[in-house]
Amino acid sequence: MSNPYGPEYIRAIAPYQAGKPIAEVAREFGLDEANIVKLASNENPFGVPESSKQAMLQAAAELARYPDSNGFELKTALAKRYDVPMDCITLGNGSNDILEIAAKAFVQKGDAVLYAQYSFAVYALAAQGLGARAIVVPAVDHGHDLDAMAAAIDQDTKLVFIANPNNPTGTFLPAAKLEAFLDKVPANVIVVLDEAYNEFLAPQDQYESTAWVRKYPNLIVSRTFSKAYGLAGLRVGFAIAQPAVTDLMNRVRQPFNVNSLAQAAAVAALNDTAFLKKSAENNTAGYQQYVQAFEEMGLQYVPSYGNFVLVKVGEDEGAGARVNVALLKQGVIVRPVGAYGLPQWLRISIGLPQENAACIAALKKALA
Ligand SMILES: *Cc1c(COP(=O)(O)O)cnc(C)c1O
Repeated sequence: MSNPYGPEYIRAIAPYQAGKPIAEVAREFGLDEANIVKLASNENPFGVPESSKQAMLQAAAELARYPDSNGFELKTALAKRYDVPMDCITLGNGSNDILEIAAKAFVQKGDAVLYAQYSFAVYALAAQGLGARAIVVPAVDHGHDLDAMAAAIDQDTKLVFIANPNNPTGTFLPAAKLEAFLDKVPANVIVVLDEAYNEFLAPQDQYESTAWVRKYPNLIVSRTFSKAYGLAGLRVGFAIAQPAVTDLMNRVRQPFNVNSLAQAAAVAALNDTAFLKKSAENNTAGYQQYVQAFEEMGLQYVPSYGNFVLVKVGEDEGAGARVNVALLKQGVIVRPVGAYGLPQWLRISIGLPQENAACIAALKKALA
C-alpha cells in the first residue's frame, strides 16, 4: 500500500544511503570488529585530534546548560582564521545543515535549484524537501560543466550548489573557472560553494574563496570539521557569506544547532595545525598508493583532489554492487555509488597506509 501521508514531493524522496557502520558489517558478515577496515565515509583515519578530546573533557562539565546559540568562541576563532567579521559566519550541525539552511532561507516550493550530475546527494535532498524543482546539469569528465551550468540558470533558479572538490568523483575546479562562473551568475541567485575537502588541496591548488565573499554578495562558502579535522561524529560545519545572507540563514537555523562539545572541539581542531598537516600528508601518500595499485591492476579511476578515489571495478551494471559485497565479506567497507548513477564504480576513502593496503589486497582478491 502506498504511503498516504505528506506531500507528493516528500514521498518521492529516495532515502540517503550512508556508509555502513563497522558494527553492522561485523554482525551481518560474522566478522570481528577489530579486523574491519572502514573506508566508506571520507572520515579522518587518525580519528579525533588529541587537542579536541581535551577541549571536550572541559566542556563536558557544562553539558547541563544549553550550548552558546551564537557560538561566540568558535565564530571568534573562525573570524580570525578567515579574516572575516563575525556577522559573516553561520554555524551548522555539520555542513549538511548549512546546505539545508541555505535552501530553506532562499528557496520556496516551485523555485528551481541547480547542481551538477554526480555531485553531492544532499543537494537533491535539500531541493526535494522544499518541493523545489531540480535542474541537474550533465557532468563532463565526471565533474561540473560550469559553462553549461551558467547557461542552465533560468528565471525560477534561486540557488546553485557547487562541490569543489566534488564528492563522490573527486574532481576539482580551479579558482579562475569558479570566478568566471560567479561573474556570470545573476545577482539574485545564491551560489553555495561546498568545500568539504578544501583542506586536502595541494598548496598550488588552494584559493581564497572566503575572500571572494567580499566581492560576491550572493556567494556562500561552506566548510566542515568532518573530514580533514576528524570530527565527523560531532556534526559541525560553517558558512561564510556577506551579513545580509548570513542574517537570513541564522533566522531559519535551529537556535541550538551546534552542541557544546562540538563547538569546543572545533575551536581546538582549528588551531591544531600539526594534525591538519599530518592528515594532508597521509592523504597525499595514500592517494599515490591507490593510484599505483589501480595502474598495476589496469583499473580506470577518476583523478581525485579529495580524501577518496572513485574507481571502476567492472563493465556491467552490477559490478559496483557485486565487488562491494566481495569486499564486505573480507571486512573492507567502501561506498557503492549506484545511487549516484555510477553502478560500475566504487568510492574508496583514503585511510592509513595499512588500511589502504588491506583494501587493495581485498580488491585484488575480489576481482581475481
Ligand atoms: C561530507 C560532505 C559534506 C557534509 O559533511 P558534514 O559532515 O555534514 O559537514 C558536505 N559536502 C560534501 C561534498 C561532502 O562530501
